[in-house]
Amino acid sequence: MIKNPVPWPNGARCAVAFTFDMDADSILHPAHHSSADTRVAALSMLRYGPEVAVPRLVDLYAHFCMRQTFFLPAWCMERYPAAVETILQSGHEIAHHGYLHEHPNACEPEQEAYWFRRASEVIERMTGQPPRGFRAPSYRFSRVSLDILVREGLLYDASLMGDDIPYVLDNGQGQVIELPTHYAMDDWPHFMASRDLAYLMPPRSPQQAMEVYQAEFDAMWEYGGLWIAVWHPFLSGRLARCVAIARLIEYMHSKGRVWFATLEDIATHVRWVIADGIWTPRIDQLPYYDGPIPELGQTAPTLAR
Ligand SMILES: [Zn+2]
Repeated sequence: MIKNPVPWPNGARCAVAFTFDMDADSILHPAHHSSADTRVAALSMLRYGPEVAVPRLVDLYAHFCMRQTFFLPAWCMERYPAAVETILQSGHEIAHHGYLHEHPNACEPEQEAYWFRRASEVIERMTGQPPRGFRAPSYRFSRVSLDILVREGLLYDASLMGDDIPYVLDNGQGQVIELPTHYAMDDWPHFMASRDLAYLMPPRSPQQAMEVYQAEFDAMWEYGGLWIAVWHPFLSGRLARCVAIARLIEYMHSKGRVWFATLEDIATHVRWVIADGIWTPRIDQLPYYDGPIPELGQTAPTLAR
């Protein structure tokens, strides 16, 4: 089913990363700039992430002796330094997730580069090292995001959805390892409900969500894939969901031969097997397009109606 699986370390059947994006209220302020401060209940729901869920998740990882990756908008790092400290003290990776959860593909290229550098400076100051990985806020990777990642020397990106296994992004000037995921692996479609953020789908039970994640895991385990969860502390760190996560980790352990790792460790391994000639990646040349495709011309609006 997978034509060219990555040789994972120690004969592991698949690689697993429980990544959390600690967005906190960085997603509320750009959405409601002039009124976010008055939306106290929404703020409290989002602050649950750094204040309650992150310490709980770090304890959960400690119980299973796991080091994992947290993506933090740098504004959240400045706003919630205790959560940063909790994450770092347990040896987890902190990776780049924008400054204020700005969407790169909504920015001009200079703006995108400005916010990227501003966030990198905060990460370097607060963690002692520059970021190694990036996930575009809301997956809004732009046509120039790869140029920035290459220029800034990042090892990997975790924003795209183009494969079941790692692949390589190339812009003609350099390369970055892509560690792909999929919306099914995000907790937003399963759990998000907020009037303030215009999400009013009924939340699924933890068991229903875990069925999806476990099915994805079973397939990745069978065929040698990469399983990356894109979860949010304020959603998946809530009590019943956290209990379900613990059961899922136990299930993975019971199957055995699973490599639990940070995304930095996975990308480093991938770069190593490429450099050593053990494995040849698929390469995606970016951007896919330089602008709107010319074939449609002015007729596009009528075709989409
Ligand atoms: Zn985010």
